[in-house]
Formats: sequence, C-alpha cells, structure tokens
Amino acid sequence: MTIIRTENLVFEYRKDDESPPVRAIGGVNIEIEEGSFTAIIGRNGSGKSTFAKNINALLLPTGGAVYVDGFRTSDEGALWEVRRRAGMVFQNPDNQIVSAIIEDDVAFGPENLGIAPDEIRRRVTDALRAVDMYEARAKSPHMLSGGQKQRVAIAGVVAMRPRCIVFDEPTAMLDPRGRREVMDILLRLHRDGITVVLITHFMEEAVKADRVVIMDAGEIVLDGPPAEVFAHSDEIRALRLDVPLTVDLCDRLRRRGHDIPRDIVGVEEMVAYLCR
Ligand code: ADP
Ligand code: MG
Repeated sequence: MTIIRTENLVFEYRKDDESPPVRAIGGVNIEIEEGSFTAIIGRNGSGKSTFAKNINALLLPTGGAVYVDGFRTSDEGALWEVRRRAGMVFQNPDNQIVSAIIEDDVAFGPENLGIAPDEIRRRVTDALRAVDMYEARAKSPHMLSGGQKQRVAIAGVVAMRPRCIVFDEPTAMLDPRGRREVMDILLRLHRDGITVVLITHFMEEAVKADRVVIMDAGEIVLDGPPAEVFAHSDEIRALRLDVPLTVDLCDRLRRRGHDIPRDIVGVEEMVAYLCR
C-alpha cells in the first residue's frame, strides 16, 4: 500500500512580490510504500528538506499535490490528519527539545494531540523504551550526549504513533558513536513497521535502505534499490556526490580486471565476498 504520494509536486519559495520565486522542487512524482525504508540523497540545495517539509505539511505545495495516507496536505482540515501520520526529526536535537525533563519532553507531542493522560503515560514509556532512554526518563535532556538527545527527539515523534517518520539529516551533527546509535534506532523503528524516509549525506547510511532516491536541482534523477542506484557510480560522481566506500572499492577492482558482482553495496556483503 502507498502511504506517501506526490503528484507533480512543485514548491517555490517567495520572499516578496518583487523578487523572482526560487523553485526548490520542480515537479516530483513519487510513491512511497507503507513500511518501506527510503533514503534520499542529493547535494546541498537540491531540495531534500523542502521535499521533507511538504510531506508533513510544514510547507504546502505551490503546484501539484502531496497525499499522506490518502489525505491531501493542502485540503482544509487535513493538517492534523497528516501531522499525526507523518512525523519529522530534524538535524539539530537542541532545537527539538522543549522541556527540562526528558519524559515531559516526550509527552509534549501527544499532549498537543489532545490525548488522555493515562494514554500519554503509556505512550511516553513505550517511546522511551523504543529508543533505549527509559532509564534516563527523569533526567534533564541537557545532560545528554548529542546521540542521546536525538534519541529523545525521536521518542517525542514516536509517542505520537506516526505511520511514517521523515528524518532530515538526523546524524549530521553527531559524532560517529551518536550516528550509530541513531541509525540503530531508525532501523529498529523500520523493523517495527514504521515507514522511514531518511535524508542523509552519509552513503553508508543510504545503503541500508530498501530504496535510494537521488535528487538534483529539485528533481529525482535516480531511484531504485541501493545496488541498482549505486551501479550508476559515474553518474553519481558527476552530480558531485560521494558513492559508498564499497562501491568505490568495487569500481577500482573492476578497473584492474576483477569480476566483482554488481549487487555489492554494503560492507558486510563486501567482506563476505572477499573472504570467499
Ligand atoms: P537541501 O535540503 O537539499 O539542501 P533545500 O530544500 O533546503 O535543499 O533548498 C532547496 C532550494 O531552496 C535551495 O536553492 C535553497 O536555497 C532554497 N531555499 C530553501 N529554503 C529557503 C527559504 N526559506 N527561502 C528561500 N529559498 C529557500
Ligand atoms: Mg536540507
């Protein structure tokens, strides 16, 4: 089943009536399956964040349409239906934390949805367990590492029980350990059935997805399973993007005459292949 669908989505930023509009999204058609894990990559300014904000109705299309679970984001009255279904996690955990106590912070979202106190308590407990932060529930978020803060921010979204979470570069400000922690939680949420859309500039994260979408200048230029997309490594480099280290290594080995299968993109697969 499709959970997110865009129909010729166009988004233009308009500062005022005099200056020309900036076209950030230039007619994107995409369908995202419920329960899938999609990674979106692309250079700075390619329109990834604008696309993300159009999914949970932080921005409304200036052309075309976005549907979340059948609700058109621009329809009057659809806003809450869309926001309940599509949560969003941003880059900077500090900007997403609003309370001085972790569990109050996680309760903030469900409180805004008007959920009964008993149910809120249940959801906060479940959400904090889902990100392995339950033990720290009574602490202040300010005591936490970047990765832990981001996990609390994720719990705040999970507590709203969304069907889909869009992560906009959630690991960009974290150290390697924090990045790993956040990726582990994201993969766990995906295993639990949540539809995950991950915007990232770490190719090692993108290869973990079922589907990789590459954006350039507000359009989708490549879209498919990671092995299929990264097989276009020259095209990806021409877009001035990195390719995963494994893909780079395979390309070099091929140039030296080694016949490496095309479907190797992950480190584990690469190691398994080389050890055979
Ligand atoms: P990405 O997330 O891929 O870096 P963005 O969606 O942030 O890309 O930006 C896409 C384009 O829209 C860029 O050209 C950017 O300069 C422009 N843009 C983004 N936000 C604004 C804004 N608030 N006002 C005007 N232009 C913007
Ligand atoms: Mg961005």
